[in-house]
Amino acid sequence: MADLEQIKKKLSTIHKYSDSELDIIMPKLEEIDRIRKAKHAVILAHYYQIPPIQLIADKAGDSLALASYAKALPNEISLIVTSTVYFMAEMVKSMCPGKKVVIPDPKAGCSIADGMNVNALRKIRENYPKAAIVAYINTTAEVKSEVDAVCTSANAGAILSNIEGNPVILLPDYFFSKNIITGMRNKQNGKRYLAYKMIDDGSIIMEDILTGKEERIKINEKEAPLLKDGTCMVHNKFTEFDIHEYRKNNRIDVVIAHPEVRPSIANMADAVGGTEKMIEYLKGKPNMKNVLFITECDMAAPLREAFPEKEFFTPCRFCDYMRKNNLNNLLDSLKKEIHEVNLGPEITQGARRSMERMFELTSMLP
Ligand code: SF4
Repeated sequence: MADLEQIKKKLSTIHKYSDSELDIIMPKLEEIDRIRKAKHAVILAHYYQIPPIQLIADKAGDSLALASYAKALPNEISLIVTSTVYFMAEMVKSMCPGKKVVIPDPKAGCSIADGMNVNALRKIRENYPKAAIVAYINTTAEVKSEVDAVCTSANAGAILSNIEGNPVILLPDYFFSKNIITGMRNKQNGKRYLAYKMIDDGSIIMEDILTGKEERIKINEKEAPLLKDGTCMVHNKFTEFDIHEYRKNNRIDVVIAHPEVRPSIANMADAVGGTEKMIEYLKGKPNMKNVLFITECDMAAPLREAFPEKEFFTPCRFCDYMRKNNLNNLLDSLKKEIHEVNLGPEITQGARRSMERMFELTSMLP
């Protein structure tokens, strides 16, 4: 059973929930905890969920942490509630095909996942038959099922360095791809590193990141993805002005940014990395007390818990998709086992293969 007294204390002291808010929240957490236990269920929550959800979850983490946790779940767990966005729930289902996976709100999408589909992917594959194609984890299970490997913000550099094939293609978030490839230590190895940039004027535009040269592939508009570029609608909004303003008005010791930000913002940061990397980076910097972090606002919750002695500043931007999940629909999906995630056998198998390839490549030295 969860330590509800401890959760209440954290919500009150670290996350500043008022007594009247806690009077509403705590009975819901008690009910969630009771039903979860009775059903042998687990709750997975992304770091971009509200603090009460992160705290009641069996595991809160970034995509890689949630995928690893799901992969190792024992047989007696039959129900998984994924308080995440939809592509992560699909990812969990592909790792645990024999378990029932539900999501509180199936409309919890992602602008990066909407920026790639299998039609565009197949055109890219046709044009670069010898390429290794790596998909960022923020893609649908269908896209994952047709790439050579998946990567997350925590392991993208290692995957791109270790995968065989030339060119190496990363998709669909151009900003993420550019930041990751530019930051790779061993990128001058004779390979070309291409990023999917966008669809414009009937063409898929690919960029060779090391030379800046663009290449075009024709695509029929009807086959194009929902969005014509695959950037994050939260992270692509941060501006240079945000950083200048915070620096002007506060004493800031260190700036940390997520790799989905614009490259011009990544260049202004002291460190660029996914959520777990941010935590690791700060562990080695005890004297840096005032941290400006450029990422989704709810990420503040685990950072404030991990480093109560530091002050975190953020130009706060929430992900509307992540915020579709709340304690009410989480409780509902757990209780009624609704909004089940189902994948066809071929997609499950293909997505799982690409995920397993990620785990293999991550364990190799870069
Ligand atoms: S924060 Fe961006 S990348 Fe994450 S789920 Fe929301 S839209 Fe997708």
